[in-house]
Amino acid sequence: MCPGFRGDSVHLGDRETLALKLRGAGLKPTRQRLQIARLLFAGKARHVTAERLFEEARTERHPPSLSTVYNALRDFARCGLLREVALYGPKLWYDTTTGSHYHYYVEQNEELFDMPANAEPSLAIAPPPGMRIVGVDVVVRLKKAAPASATLRACRKEA
Ligand SMILES: [Zn+2]
Repeated sequence: MCPGFRGDSVHLGDRETLALKLRGAGLKPTRQRLQIARLLFAGKARHVTAERLFEEARTERHPPSLSTVYNALRDFARCGLLREVALYGPKLWYDTTTGSHYHYYVEQNEELFDMPANAEPSLAIAPPPGMRIVGVDVVVRLKKAAPASATLRACRKEA
């Protein structure tokens, strides 16, 4: 490694902020965790799967393996830095916004995004006796509106 090499193109300030964030959550800020944290937390709020983040990270100078990405996301979620969002299907999504909120999911292009607060239904759910509610996950699945005839044609074609 060259003298003065600080890994990828992250400013020292950003790196320190991310290291503090990881330490604050009880995680050791390893190079790979910092790299993945930068992809997740450097910009605006994000919803990602491990596969998508892995694809994104492939352009990095030292790309992490898919299993490293999986492990880092799992560790971040376990320590409260990310929220897991489970949808139908095998993929788990990770959300950088950890507070309570609901989601829209567009099936055709596998896009998950936040429901605006003013669209959230108010759900008065009573827990069973002796239990307390720790979270309510709402995912509204969407499809782009298309004429019914087009949908029918598509189904016939598949059959
Ligand atoms: Zn979200």
